[in-house]
Amino acid sequence: MNDSELENPYILLTPGPLSTSPTVRKALLRDWCTWDDDYNLGVVTPIREKLVQLAAGDQAADYTAVLMQGSGSFSVEAMIGTAVPRDGKLLILANGAYGDRLAKIASYLEVDHVIHDCGELAQPDQQKLKQTLDDDLAISHVVLVHNETTTGMLNPLEEIAGIVKAAGRILMVDAMSSFGGIPIDVPGLGIDYIVSSANKCIQGVPGFGFVICRRSALERCGNNARSLSLDLCDQWRTMETGKGKWRFTSPTHTVRAFAQAMQELDEEGGIPARFARYTENHRILIEGMERLGFKCILPREWQSPIITGFHSPDAPGYTFQAFYDTLKTHGFVIYPGKVTGIESFRIGTIGHVFPDDIARLIEAVEHSQTWIN
Ligand SMILES: *Cc1c(COP(=O)(O)O)cnc(C)c1O
Repeated sequence: MNDSELENPYILLTPGPLSTSPTVRKALLRDWCTWDDDYNLGVVTPIREKLVQLAAGDQAADYTAVLMQGSGSFSVEAMIGTAVPRDGKLLILANGAYGDRLAKIASYLEVDHVIHDCGELAQPDQQKLKQTLDDDLAISHVVLVHNETTTGMLNPLEEIAGIVKAAGRILMVDAMSSFGGIPIDVPGLGIDYIVSSANKCIQGVPGFGFVICRRSALERCGNNARSLSLDLCDQWRTMETGKGKWRFTSPTHTVRAFAQAMQELDEEGGIPARFARYTENHRILIEGMERLGFKCILPREWQSPIITGFHSPDAPGYTFQAFYDTLKTHGFVIYPGKVTGIESFRIGTIGHVFPDDIARLIEAVEHSQTWIN
């Protein structure tokens, strides 16, 4: 491989994996022994401690972080399969593809569940949630997606958490595409489990996910797991007693790169600073795209700064593929839309991506609007 092959030909404006910094990629270059203290004590343990700090601040002692091999969905599946006991019942709030995936996981694992699906273009019905929790006392756990990456919908986590915790239920959050990029007061909201992965807003490379758990909740889950590989409790015990040891082969290079990514998050100014950068990326995107005549799918007040869905241009010459290919030659990769029944595309504003990059993207979009002629 020569140096030019190591250069990124384009930046990823996608929901993950994301563009990473050159220093994060450089951290991949050395090998680590999965058994050695250099790795377990020097890399894994500080990551676990910092994740808990990020999530819980001065209430960190009440929480613990478990890392799990695989893409983000593996950690979501580990969380659901370990947290919900055999006689438990799960209420799933869904408004997009990732909410649907929660339901699919529950169904595969044969976890008793009910689904409140309000559709991709609406927010969960809080009154209905409250009523269901009052009526169905068998429901022990509630799970929702914080930022539904299908649309960029930022679900009202505070309000939902208030209802779920007032009703005394365990709350699990798929914050895959928001954790690290949007401030979340995990202890303040009473969240019991929150899950994300290495390659989203912390800006690492793909290969593992993590679940930050309330210790007192996880401690009770020893006999729940439906899968050996995805037994979050067993993984946790091994990490605790083995001081950072993973049960099975750990993605060592990815984990070391993640440690670098966490350091860079810190150097940037932590989650508030990253949130501010993503918000600025998003502001420039929306302003530029609307000036060029594009329309957002979601109303502004529901839209997160993470990823934005746009209606495809209503022009006979437009195809997503041609638009995509042109932007790619300009150095940007965008994403197809996912909303049922709407022709659309998505642009992410997260990762090692800066306001200047988004301003250049807008110029590229302007130049690529050949279908208008
Ligand atoms: C990315 C993402 C996931 C996990 O997807 P993987 O492809 O398994 O990494 C889960 N939920 C949400 C909301 C996501 O954005």
